Amino acid sequence: MKKLELTGIGHYFQGKKGSVPVLDHIDLHVNQGEFVSLIGPSGSGKSTLFHIIGGLIQPKSGDVHLDGVKVTGEKGLIAYMPQQPALFPWRSIESNAALGLEVAGQDRSEALAKAREWLVKVGLGGYERELPHVLSGGMQQRVSFLRALLSPQELMLLDEPFGSLDALTRQDMQAWLLAIWEQNKRSILFVTHSIEEALFLSDRIYVLSNKPACVVEELTVPFPRPRVETVLQDPKFQELR
Ligand code: ADP
Ligand code: MG
Repeated sequence: MKKLELTGIGHYFQGKKGSVPVLDHIDLHVNQGEFVSLIGPSGSGKSTLFHIIGGLIQPKSGDVHLDGVKVTGEKGLIAYMPQQPALFPWRSIESNAALGLEVAGQDRSEALAKAREWLVKVGLGGYERELPHVLSGGMQQRVSFLRALLSPQELMLLDEPFGSLDALTRQDMQAWLLAIWEQNKRSILFVTHSIEEALFLSDRIYVLSNKPACVVEELTVPFPRPRVETVLQDPKFQELR
């Protein structure tokens, strides 16, 4: 069963010298419960593609299907972590992290309690009531990650989620993501620059060419499940089970 399917997605931006093609007939899909990575050069159009999937941009051609239903241009159907953490500067960190749950209709105090619990897990205990500006870029990225992680939608789009993290924190966040993915049977589309990260995390990888982006290669990663099992043997992740 296909959770997400993109067919013939094309897009261009209007520049001073005319239109600049960015996406050239992108076909790709994410199966139910699958972890798929997208790799491509900087500026090739990965974030634009995510904006299209999230309904923030209407593509010039092609369609987005979710669970077999055409949803091109519709917002709010996916858990989305943008490349730049878009935290609300006037909301506390816990409130920013809880937003996905609240928007989905969860009781506010329950949403905040869950957010607080997770802030501790990702190393941000003590910052719950602060405003986002006190956090470094990497810390803001973790709050933005939590917001997507706690959102109930089954499809998650993560746009270079661990880009500004140090190596150890990145490893921890990768493990939390695998744990949540395994636990909740999420379907994930993940953008990364790192081929190692894509190989470690995903079932399948799409490689994009440079602008205008099109899919030039599709790789199936062998034996992904045993890797998840290894990560979950760490006692830290046992409580999720
Ligand atoms: P990636 O995420 O792969 O690094 P982006 O999707 O951010 O690439 O950008 C793809 C190309 O589209 C870049 O050349 C970028 O400058 C251009 N672009 C992105 N957003 C806009 C916009 N709103 N208007 C004009 N050009 C844009
Ligand atoms: Mg990008």
